[in-house]
Amino acid sequence: MGIRRRLTKQIMLGDVPVGGCAPISVQTMTKTDTRDVNATVSQIHELEELGCDIIRVAVPDEEAAEALKEIKKQISIPLVADIHFDYRLALLAIKNGVDGLRINPGNIGNQERVRAVVRAASERGIPIRIGVNSGSLPPDILGKYGRTAAGLVESALSHVKLLEKENYYNIKISVKAPDVAMMIEAYRILADRVEYPLHLGVTEAGGGLSGTIKSAIGIGTLLAEGIGDTIRVSLTGPPHEEVKAGLEILRILGLRPGGVDLISCPTCGRCRIDLMSIAREVERRLPPTRHDLKVAVMGCTVNGPGEAREADVGIAGGKGCGLLFKKGKLVRKVPEEELVDALITEIDKILEERENNNAGNSSADTDTSRSSG
Ligand code: SF4
Repeated sequence: MGIRRRLTKQIMLGDVPVGGCAPISVQTMTKTDTRDVNATVSQIHELEELGCDIIRVAVPDEEAAEALKEIKKQISIPLVADIHFDYRLALLAIKNGVDGLRINPGNIGNQERVRAVVRAASERGIPIRIGVNSGSLPPDILGKYGRTAAGLVESALSHVKLLEKENYYNIKISVKAPDVAMMIEAYRILADRVEYPLHLGVTEAGGGLSGTIKSAIGIGTLLAEGIGDTIRVSLTGPPHEEVKAGLEILRILGLRPGGVDLISCPTCGRCRIDLMSIAREVERRLPPTRHDLKVAVMGCTVNGPGEAREADVGIAGGKGCGLLFKKGKLVRKVPEEELVDALITEIDKILEERENNNAGNSSADTDTSRSSG
């Protein structure tokens, strides 16, 4: 049985819908200096290529806010400006074409300033994300609730009220914490209290294995309960790792079609090839794809051929060599050192075939619709 998603209000970030029945989007933040337009744009292009749906950039000063204009021109996914405290930067970011803002209205001074931001955002139909983190809760909330899930939610709702006071409802909310249990609880409470779409994330999750597992548990648990409309995995590492982890979380939960399901065995005493290096290399070289593809990398011929046959393409190790299978059929025996190349070549071929089939189908569709008038 699939996951039943909680129905939220839908907002638009550029042409990407968030909430309602929209697919759950994956987003990340650039890690370049936003003022360096070339570096930032080139990082965004790489992330777009991987399947990132929405990109956010830090806007710490006026120069960064000015750079947004050029960045926006050169990219095709929606651009969100991340702003703290300075409402003038928010106004400048809006003027320079961003598709969304992340700003907490309670931190920008007074209601006049909130009104100015809301007016500018409304004119351009730009949503605002209220992003509350457990590390920066205000003293009044800390005094009343402590650093707790309830405190995170109350803080977020106090910002929401400031926007609603201006009749502004184009809102998305996040309540992040490095403590996974606290983050899960906060989103559950929030999901019961508002209909706004929710942006999920475990903040300051760390890096590598630990950070990825924390994010997968925090984000994955909520998604499995139907909570969450867009996700960001935060890792101390390059942003493409965040996007890959985000896409993988969605794919594993069956919330996003496409991508490669890589099956590989744990290896054991029967294995006569260096399967760990082969599996690592295959994983590193797997191309991003919108098609579903199952790839098997198996250590020996005991269980290997069975799994490899089930997959679209797979290998089963022998002694210093491997058997290559495609769509259930043995293709050939390949020397160990050529196994990765052989597998990736087959994967590329299958994906190309599927692309061509798709293109064929859609032109046939167009022809049919024309002929049927
Ligand atoms: S497929 Fe072969 S090598 Fe891999 S774990 Fe199973 S028996 Fe061991």
